This record gives sequence, C-alpha cells and structure tokens, in this order.
Amino acid sequence: MQAVPWSQVRSWRCNMCGICCRHYDVVLKFPEWLSIVKNFGIEYTAPSLDKIFLRRRSDGSCTFLLETPKASFCGLQHAKPKACKLWPFKVLNRPKFGNPNKAAYHYRDRKLFIYVDPACTGLRLGEPTREFVYSVIPEFIEIALNSCRRQFKTTAVL
Ligand code: SF4
Ligand code: SF4
Repeated sequence: MQAVPWSQVRSWRCNMCGICCRHYDVVLKFPEWLSIVKNFGIEYTAPSLDKIFLRRRSDGSCTFLLETPKASFCGLQHAKPKACKLWPFKVLNRPKFGNPNKAAYHYRDRKLFIYVDPACTGLRLGEPTREFVYSVIPEFIEIALNSCRRQFKTTAVL
C-alpha cells in the first residue's frame, strides 16, 4: 500500500493489534543488535548479506511479540528498535512517496516530508486534528532525529 502524506491523516493511535509485529521485517542498527545479543542471545537476530534483522518465528511474527486474547505487546518495550518506534511513520528529507506539498512538514528550521503507512489499523484518514499535527507528528520526528528521550504518543506501554 502506498504511504499517505501526513496532511491526509486525521489521527493516529496504536490500538495494540500487533499487525506490524506479525508481518514486517525489523532492521537493526548495530548498537541495537549488540544490545539484543548481550541481553538475549544472538539467536534472537537474523543476519542477511547487508542487514541484520530481528528473528521472526515460523509464523512470521517477531520473537519478542507477546499476545493475549485482547492485545499484543512488545516484549522489548524498553529497548525497542528505532524501526519499531517509528512505525507506521516515515520521516524523510525528500518526498520519496510523492505529493510533496501534502507531505511537507516544517519542524524548527527544517523542512521534512512525513508519510504514514496505511496498513496500520490505528490510522484514521481525514482532516488532521491539532493533537496529531502538534503532538503526535513532532514526537515521531524527534525519534527519527534521535532527540526524543521518552515516548508518550508513539507506543503502547506494557
Ligand atoms: S502500530 Fe498500528 S499496526 Fe502496529 S500494533 Fe499499533 S495499531 Fe497495530
Ligand atoms: S521488537 Fe517489539 S515492536 Fe518491534 S516487531 Fe518485535 S514485538 Fe513488535
């Protein structure tokens, strides 16, 4: 599914459906890989020729996914890889997915391009709410720019 520009999104909130943890590969940065190897073991990671991923179970789900009848949780909550923290948002320097005018977002002195993956069930399309524009999106930007110390809007807490 084509990523949609932020200005077409009314709101976003994680409802803990777990879809993103069952169907997508998670690429690890080297320090993330090292931390997982130290704390859990190398068997929780899966190298390829040029990337390292979190290992997935035979059904495709992440090995850290915890599921109850009502909700899905991340077992890596406090060491969640950046790729997971950013999902379903894409914070880019260029308008990689088109619609540059609708994707442009001015953050401090920077012009960024923000898209959202519509496969996330927590997304609602429409006119953006103030909370979405001024609270949710900036938090994702801060995560992308490594300036966010704690997540408030962007994760479900165990
Ligand atoms: S981020 Fe989206 S797809 Fe992933 S668990 Fe939350 S609502 Fe579901
Ligand atoms: S590390 Fe957590 S958030 Fe990321 S895919 Fe695994 S269970 Fe989901």
